Amino acid sequence: MVYLGEGGRVPYLNKNSIVRNVEDTLEECWNGAFPVDVEAICDDLGIGILPIVDLSKTFRVDAFISADFKTIYVDSREFERDSHRYRFSVAHELGHFVLHRKYCPNVTKSLDEWFQFFRRFTNDYAEFQANYFAGSLLVPEVELVRVLDDEFDGSFVRNYWHASSSELGRILMKVRRHFRVSDDVIARRMRDAFPGVDEIDNNKKWRQK
Ligand SMILES: [Zn+2]
Repeated sequence: MVYLGEGGRVPYLNKNSIVRNVEDTLEECWNGAFPVDVEAICDDLGIGILPIVDLSKTFRVDAFISADFKTIYVDSREFERDSHRYRFSVAHELGHFVLHRKYCPNVTKSLDEWFQFFRRFTNDYAEFQANYFAGSLLVPEVELVRVLDDEFDGSFVRNYWHASSSELGRILMKVRRHFRVSDDVIARRMRDAFPGVDEIDNNKKWRQK
């Protein structure tokens, strides 16, 4: 168990329980359309999104959530120009909101103090959980498998091996558009969904085939 000071502590969560939290969130706040609208989910949960100029330069993070868990600060550049990254950042902070808010002690501090505190609070352990939450929220496994099976004549696992590299590239582009996430996130979610299929460990393999 990891103790995080001031009574706050993030418990161990296995992937299944993180996914359950994602499913509850989607069921409660999502209209069922892809790409998943993270802004609408925030809205539903009473969370505002505030782009900040030079956030990543000043704080060396893409985003973080306020002490009252009601505002997600995002780097304005990312907000304006990098929708994949922006969407993942918001989904990651949503992960902190859903998974960790209840363990976080109530602190009223300046933004800077809060940031320093939250950085300690969300150690690697909590960061993994928030990242896994974000990936599962943006790319739900059932939908990923459905889309891929659809593209590969009913079975991705069976037919993947026969596909040409240009076919794989075309499908990857389709998957990327459907979920509106980066190739990295798709690769990670494919590893989660098809753990036995070693070849699907990164997108380079997709291209090399
Ligand atoms: Zn985080």
